[in-house]
Amino acid sequence: MSEAKTTAPTLAEKVEKATHQNTYLCYQCKRCSAGCPMAEHFDKLPNEVMLAIQNDDNSIMNSKTVWLCASCQTCNTRCPQSLDIPGILDYFRQETINSASVPETARFFKTFMRNARFFGRVYEAGLMGELNLREGKPLRDIGMGLNMIRRGKIRLTPDFARAPKTVSPQRPSSKAIAYYPGCSLHSTGKAFDLSFRGVVGELGGELKEIPGWVCCGTTPSHGVDAVAAVALPLKNLAIAEKMGVGKVVAPCAACFSRFQAALHHYRSDAPLSEKVDSALNENYRDAVSVENALDWLSTVDSDSIVKRVKRPLKGLKVACYYGCLLTRPPSVTGADDAENPTQMERIVRLLGGEPVDFGRKTDCCGGSLAVSHVQIAKGLTAKILIDAKRHGADIIAVACPLCQVNLDERQPEMSTSLDFTIPVLYITQLMALAFGLPRETQALEQSAINADL
Ligand code: SF4
Ligand code: SF4
Ligand code: SF4
Repeated sequence: MSEAKTTAPTLAEKVEKATHQNTYLCYQCKRCSAGCPMAEHFDKLPNEVMLAIQNDDNSIMNSKTVWLCASCQTCNTRCPQSLDIPGILDYFRQETINSASVPETARFFKTFMRNARFFGRVYEAGLMGELNLREGKPLRDIGMGLNMIRRGKIRLTPDFARAPKTVSPQRPSSKAIAYYPGCSLHSTGKAFDLSFRGVVGELGGELKEIPGWVCCGTTPSHGVDAVAAVALPLKNLAIAEKMGVGKVVAPCAACFSRFQAALHHYRSDAPLSEKVDSALNENYRDAVSVENALDWLSTVDSDSIVKRVKRPLKGLKVACYYGCLLTRPPSVTGADDAENPTQMERIVRLLGGEPVDFGRKTDCCGGSLAVSHVQIAKGLTAKILIDAKRHGADIIAVACPLCQVNLDERQPEMSTSLDFTIPVLYITQLMALAFGLPRETQALEQSAINADL
């Protein structure tokens, strides 16, 4: 009698089991690689990663591509087969976290997650200090860090947080929206927090900060732990459910993206959602939706904005920069036009300013590599700044705290590649300025490059 032969699963089968992606659908059109901002730094292009999986070539696990991907979501947005290439690379990251081909990125991810789990929210000064010591570079970025501390952009003390045991529900008549500032808006993105709160209040909205919110895990979580990457955002949505609200606004692009991706995976991956439910240990009902700051501002009618303008931005040419995660991939973010969003341009016009045409408005600035691979991030950032300037912009408007820091704070160090500086402000700072809101709401002094407005 012949014995049943068991064969080990192929790489493609393992990838499909973990990510639900059928890599055999790839037909090597190379659109993913053509749009990849990191292609010049990779040892395997995204289409070559897919081919290696089809060929059962396990050496792909050791490719630098796995750990250098900036998670910009361009390749999956453009893939005609809707293949989630960064999701597949995340699977390889989780499998190789302790033997990573690019140890700096893995070290950053692990240190970030340890920091977020210990404090509940990321303590940036502690994170940078620990990373610098582990890498034997105690003075790395010390000048930039001290300047940010001086401007109140980095906190010296941690912000401990734990999800509360009980939550007071809102009055049934309340129109309040739950507000998730995320770690950045409590530190490096404080100007976004101050100006967004001020603008929402001026426009008649009401934000209620989620009590005891915790870090959403952002980019490091999905490279380290697939369950935590979904459970951390949903832990916050579970608190929002107890508040009795139907909507959460998360202005930070990285937080918004993580929330939307978590909801997407929770709804589409039953085995994963079971693990998440047991990690949450909550009666989570999936009853709250999430939007970003631009989504919220898009619900405000034009007249309501125009009638509040006291100081029109007359003659101000503005390059509106969206970055990656507010819009990509549209199957997750729900963006109407992932490659050419126009929400900020509308606001700039209503404020009396002039939006400039700007080809790199959804390019990646390398924010996820800004700590582990500063030179690569600076190269990507320089292309965006130069393009904005070439199109006549006086200023760049953003809606992401990571983009703001990356585009603004690094400029003083880039005098060899840039012969100009250009201010980078949040769109809500421009609104606060045009509405004539108090200086502390405009928070212009938080930027490295003086806007002089
Ligand atoms: S875009 Fe999609 S189908 Fe085309 S090569 Fe890349 S992964 Fe394959
Ligand atoms: S997510 Fe961005 S950086 Fe990563 S492979 Fe895709 S296009 Fe390249
Ligand atoms: S910080 Fe840079 S990398 Fe991150 S979302 Fe913004 S544009 Fe993309």
